[in-house]
Amino acid sequence: MFLGPPGSGKGTYSSYLSVYLDVPHISTGEMLREVVESGSELGKKIDGFLDRGELVSDDIMIEIFKRRILMDDTKNGFVLDGFPRTITQAKMLDEMHESIGCFDYIFSLWTPYDQIIKRALKRAQCDDCGKIYNLKNSPPKIDGVCDICGGKIVDRDDDNEKILHHRLKVYDEITKPLVEYYSDRDSFYTIYSGGPAQEGNDEITGIIGKTPKGES
Ligand code: AMP
Repeated sequence: MFLGPPGSGKGTYSSYLSVYLDVPHISTGEMLREVVESGSELGKKIDGFLDRGELVSDDIMIEIFKRRILMDDTKNGFVLDGFPRTITQAKMLDEMHESIGCFDYIFSLWTPYDQIIKRALKRAQCDDCGKIYNLKNSPPKIDGVCDICGGKIVDRDDDNEKILHHRLKVYDEITKPLVEYYSDRDSFYTIYSGGPAQEGNDEITGIIGKTPKGES
């Protein structure tokens, strides 16, 4: 599980770890964006929340999350990115954890907010596969085209500066208390995520101490 403010690297580290361990990357932000893009009634209902940088209600989020987590591909594990974000969600996850075992490691990412803001404003994402690019430090090889799937790279709508400040405020008020909620658990680790992504990746895989699937 990855905790951390928006722009702290949850998406980047989760993607890496999911490939490393060969388990699905479950990003609730990505799932919600897909629901919005589907144009469904639910999508119309939640669209404004994402645009404004507000959290989607616990009822909706928990329902979507439970459906995803109980799919067959999660049997050998998964990487959680962006869930839980509220104490209610964390308590629900703890209940699930008791019955099906939901998380072995909790990584709490931290980066100074001024750095997050600088970095996030340079962030763009593939419209098809969701890969995140930092247009300054790790741009795609061909401008505007995803290295992985050839999809179109677009700015994230929620990354403009005013909304980002609001998302950080929402994080401070609603999500940050989760750091304290989890901090006395043996599985809890704080990771500085303000440096090069590879340093964070190495620290995380070092803690997990497993070799990637397919290698011995
Ligand atoms: P992310 O891609 O993780 O930054 O999430 C983008 C947006 O999706 C957030 O700003 C929220 O509006 C919404 N979101 C993602 N995960 C959750 C969650 N666990 N609970 C409520 N809203 C969420």
